Amino acid sequence: MKRNKIVAGNWKMNLDFEEAQTLIEDLENLLDEKQPSCEVIICPPFPYLELATDEASEHELFEVGAQNVAAWESGAYTGEVSAKMLDSIGVSCCIIGHSERRKYFGEDNKTLAAKVNLALQYEIVPIFCVGEVLEEREANKHFDVIRKQVEEGLFHLDIADIENVIIAYEPVWAIGTGKTATPTQAQEVHAFIRKLVKEKYGDDIASQIHILYGGSCNAKNASELFAQPDVDGGLIGGASLKAEDFVSICEQASK
Ligand code: PEP
Repeated sequence: MKRNKIVAGNWKMNLDFEEAQTLIEDLENLLDEKQPSCEVIICPPFPYLELATDEASEHELFEVGAQNVAAWESGAYTGEVSAKMLDSIGVSCCIIGHSERRKYFGEDNKTLAAKVNLALQYEIVPIFCVGEVLEEREANKHFDVIRKQVEEGLFHLDIADIENVIIAYEPVWAIGTGKTATPTQAQEVHAFIRKLVKEKYGDDIASQIHILYGGSCNAKNASELFAQPDVDGGLIGGASLKAEDFVSICEQASK
């Protein structure tokens, strides 16, 4: 089965409102001109999500994802944003378990599994991030680390739910460092993740689930990475803040 490619932009904590407006406008112009066939997702900071979903429903050039979601349904959780709130403004997916959330906010697999459940309950597609730090790779422990993240974060789901999950392999040593995994390194881990999914859920799910690569993916190296059989697109950080680079990556995912 041929999977369509997906390119998602993680803006992280960047841009003020005016800059976000400009980036969305530039993206719309370029996406409209280039018409990439891949699925395009942008993940702006919370205050700009509604602007993005309004634009998304008017022009249908991209979908909108959040960068995080609360692990609770609602209530006295000051500063948190729930899955229901995201759903109510037209957000269709959500990054969950990004390594920056794991590192700076102490999010563990149990918390992340709760976030995945709530997202799915509101029909928000989780983009579930996994990946090893440099020491783990150097100690050749990366497969064990990724297995644990995938099993504890996702494998409690039943088939109807896992179908709606996107997995992103993001080696932590490659995020924001300019150091990209080689296409071979990425393919090896993506094939490993797909094998885990196959063992747990069978062939059909394994062959349809999307596994994105993230970690210094840019307009120069995207083609090579996306040419790997188990790389179904990218989760793009730094390069998603430049409309031309991001749309070029989308075009490379559309070949
Ligand atoms: C990310 O944060 O998800 C990411 C992939 O960042 P960058 O592309 O900047 O390495």
